[in-house]
Amino acid sequence: MFVVLGLWLLVFPAALSAPAREQCTTGKNKLLLVSFDGFRWDYDRDVDTPNLDKMAMEGVKAAYMTPPFLTITSPSHFTLLTGRYIENHGVIHNIWFNITTQEKKQYYMTQFVDEYWDNGSLPIWITAQRQGLKTGSHHFPGTAATYQNEKVYKETVEPIFYNYTNETVWRENVNTVIGQWFKNEDLDFISLYFGDPDEVGHKYGPDSPERREVIKKVDRTVGYLRETVEKNGLTDKLNIIITADHGMSTVFKGENVNEIILSNIPGFSLRDLKFHMVDYGACGMLLPKDGMFDKVYNALKGGHPNLHVYKKEDMPERLHYSKHPRLLPIILIADPGYVINGFYTFQTNKGEHGYDNEVMDMKAFFRAVGPDFHNNLLVGPFESVNVYSLMCHLLGIQPEVNDGSLDNTRHMLLSNGLSCVLKAPESILQNLFIGLSAVAGFLLLVFVVVTSNNVYKRHKGNQSRTEDTSDEDETKDDLKQTTF
Ligand SMILES: [Zn+2]
Repeated sequence: MFVVLGLWLLVFPAALSAPAREQCTTGKNKLLLVSFDGFRWDYDRDVDTPNLDKMAMEGVKAAYMTPPFLTITSPSHFTLLTGRYIENHGVIHNIWFNITTQEKKQYYMTQFVDEYWDNGSLPIWITAQRQGLKTGSHHFPGTAATYQNEKVYKETVEPIFYNYTNETVWRENVNTVIGQWFKNEDLDFISLYFGDPDEVGHKYGPDSPERREVIKKVDRTVGYLRETVEKNGLTDKLNIIITADHGMSTVFKGENVNEIILSNIPGFSLRDLKFHMVDYGACGMLLPKDGMFDKVYNALKGGHPNLHVYKKEDMPERLHYSKHPRLLPIILIADPGYVINGFYTFQTNKGEHGYDNEVMDMKAFFRAVGPDFHNNLLVGPFESVNVYSLMCHLLGIQPEVNDGSLDNTRHMLLSNGLSCVLKAPESILQNLFIGLSAVAGFLLLVFVVVTSNNVYKRHKGNQSRTEDTSDEDETKDDLKQTTF
């Protein structure tokens, strides 16, 4: 009987691991990552957003998300895609530049410079493809580039002079991604990008009526997106993350504003520079000519009350913007509301970003909904560097080396980050170990019983030669010994 019990435990060892299996993430649901460029964390505070509210009721809403520094579009989106800080992934600016030839490529043309994007960190599309998934990207920064000789399987790169603001085109893009790519072509992961509210935020400022209107448009688009998901029967199979790359801050203007114009700072001259990246908003970088470093640095340091001047190696560590070789040796950061100009005020925008990521105006929006997310859950803030490990977990893929952790987002998930895919082999091994231990324990017990019985018999035998004990008594004692 005990042999049978032992074998049963070996074959059905789960009988010993008593609690029922907890909920886990299967890695089989699809995932959509949506970015609304420049959607500040609090843009829905003064606008009716019924669709975003519904999504929060049915999913997870973060208080806000902290983007990486530099808080601008291409670097921040590449952090979402790789889970790396900007100094580690190397897409340090929206603009590609060459310090020798003085050449610069603006945001759009930089999208096509492969070596700018492909410099060591793989975006999630490529990692997922290498692990057997089908991925796509619609207008997301980084889509056009080739990474280690691979491209995202399905891609749409916006044409030059693309109108980022047309709501009808937004709906067509939703139809393509949901109806065509997810439903008809069975893709597993897609990133989808919209150029607003960034464009309106720059042009009119974050506190303008125009910004409030564009948030209504975003809200309608989110409603349309979720309706389209439902119509295509994907609601229970698709996780959706809606987020952004950075926020937006009002640019100070007027007579009382002491604008930052570098050439007005005593002792500073643009002629002392070999190369510079100024007139790009909140942040600037300088490469002084040989022997001019101290002169340039000393002139600018303390040269304007709202300008922070750092040697590259002295940048605050929390910004993670000092280690990459592409960064120039002097880095300038303006206070919120100020922009850095070279010769004259070059600024027509009423809103800007690119400031320190601790500034609340730079914080980004984050919502998520789908079969793996909790309902009606408000979570605290976290850094955007953690979105990558969350996405890898949802897709059931092994992440590349990254700077984030699932520990910072696992509380959003019904599974609390427990993976069915990873748990299965672990639990088989664990149960096998328990089963084998039970059999070994049983065999040890049999051995002890048999051995002690033999010893007892020998002892009794010796006794019976000296004492006149009946066979009947011996049998009774024997029975006692072998009863459990
Ligand atoms: Zn942006």
